Amino acid sequence: SGINFDNYDDIPVEASGKDVPEAITEFTSPPLADLLMENIKLAHFTKPTPVQKYSIPIVEQGRDLMACAQTGSGKTGGFLFPVLSESFSTGPADLPENTQSSYMRKAYPTAVILAPTRELATQIFDEAKKFTYRSWVKPCVVYGGADIRNQIRELERGCALLVATPGRLNDLLERGRISLANVKYLVLDEADRMLDMGFEPQIRHIVDGCDMPPAGERQTLMFSATFPDDIQHLARDFLSDYIFLSVGRVGS
Ligand code: ADP
Ligand code: MG
Repeated sequence: SGINFDNYDDIPVEASGKDVPEAITEFTSPPLADLLMENIKLAHFTKPTPVQKYSIPIVEQGRDLMACAQTGSGKTGGFLFPVLSESFSTGPADLPENTQSSYMRKAYPTAVILAPTRELATQIFDEAKKFTYRSWVKPCVVYGGADIRNQIRELERGCALLVATPGRLNDLLERGRISLANVKYLVLDEADRMLDMGFEPQIRHIVDGCDMPPAGERQTLMFSATFPDDIQHLARDFLSDYIFLSVGRVGS
């Protein structure tokens, strides 16, 4: 919902930062994995939205990203497509040697996506399921207000891509059910809404208070509809040498 397919090519996009990669104009392999191309066709996505045109090569080239774009601009594909392409071709990550014994009860996601609400987390999870069809990547979703035991059971079956609300992720981290040691991609979706809901301490604990690799050793992607001071501050703390993308008119 929200994408106007007649004129979304006219939406202005500004990209700034060091060595901004050139935008793509079509979904092509490379940079996208062949299997992902098939799943994009099955979803009837015929061409990338403006945010996807820019974010796909930025993420594919290993850069951090701060993207400001309105709801309905296609941000989910903007981070899912490059992350999944890389995951499909790399295969499952090796576990750290000293964690082999706890493998059966702990999940080691390589991608973690934080979202403010159960509804938004579920939407991202549904897209992830669609685009990981016939791949080795198993997405999981965890959020509060639901039985944690079912979520633990799902995590025990393996989880390469985790979609989570901050509170429930902290709960599962404290219970030793998830390790962030293998995280290559951290995505903060709807970052402004997460801060409005008071999640900043939770998010900081996940990013800096657990076993997540530091900025520069992971790739961090932040998405927000607005760019107020607290989001700018978070971007300075979490991102490393990032590219700033602004799509359409952005409030502050
Ligand atoms: P945002 O996160 O920016 O609000 P979404 O990623 O949820 O936007 O996308 C909004 C809607 O547009 C979704 O229904 C999604 O499936 C659809 N969509 C996204 N990208 C494309 C595309 N390239 N082609 C067709 N539909 C798309
Ligand atoms: Mg979204």
